[in-house]
Amino acid sequence: MQNPTFFLYDENTAESLRSEELAEFLKGAFAAPVEVREEFVGRHLGRWGEEERRGWLEELARRFAYLRVRDVNRENSFSDPLPMEVDVERRRLLNENRGSFGMAVDGFQFQACMRELLPVEERGLQHLHIIFTNRLLATWEADDRRYHLRTIILGQPAVISTSGLVEAPAKPREYYLIRQRLPDDELARVNLLRQFAGRFLEHSDARTNQVVKGYLMQAAFYLLFGERFCKDPDCRLFNAHWQEEMLHAQLRPEAGLCEKHEEMVEELRAKS
Ligand SMILES: [Zn+2]
Repeated sequence: MQNPTFFLYDENTAESLRSEELAEFLKGAFAAPVEVREEFVGRHLGRWGEEERRGWLEELARRFAYLRVRDVNRENSFSDPLPMEVDVERRRLLNENRGSFGMAVDGFQFQACMRELLPVEERGLQHLHIIFTNRLLATWEADDRRYHLRTIILGQPAVISTSGLVEAPAKPREYYLIRQRLPDDELARVNLLRQFAGRFLEHSDARTNQVVKGYLMQAAFYLLFGERFCKDPDCRLFNAHWQEEMLHAQLRPEAGLCEKHEEMVEELRAKS
């Protein structure tokens, strides 16, 4: 059987993301062909005629507005969106305003919508799709009965949230303690960020590209081997809940895979 091909979709909202470099990385790591494509929705709606495409855009705008997580403590806290909310989503889909990441949407439902857009011939595991987005994605956690922001939604297509890398893993405890006591003042907030500089990822952080490589590996391991994350904090597949864990797993000069996962890719490379 031929090696599967990876498809990376870049919506161009994270300036520190260098998709060609990420493609090279993935290609080297898994000895698999990688193709960089433009933003996912635009790409896949491109095969429809004008009228159908417009119908799809309306439908997606409505669905994404509906899928906003309106109450983090209530499962499926969706409600019929206001026309204004649908309009924000429509403009986002038309590439008129992708700047802000806004409210989180339900990650699994978002992924399901994206999967529907894939052409039938690209749905199998010979085509491995990975989307980068600056949307915030959240999933319901049954253990503590609340929604949590996510860095990545594993599956087909895998979705990596670049805003999620900043917002989902928690910052150091001391950071929150100090922030609680801060006056409502922009300068104080800037100073606090400066005080903790380097200990967590910020928006437009130059280190994002390097961190994303680890998340690409997580997406690929799930698609290729059905492997979900790793318990070893030194492995790039580690499911970090803290910023410092994430930076440790992804940014050390020797950052890489644990022995077990390294063996799995070596075996794959040997076969190709
Ligand atoms: Zn591992």
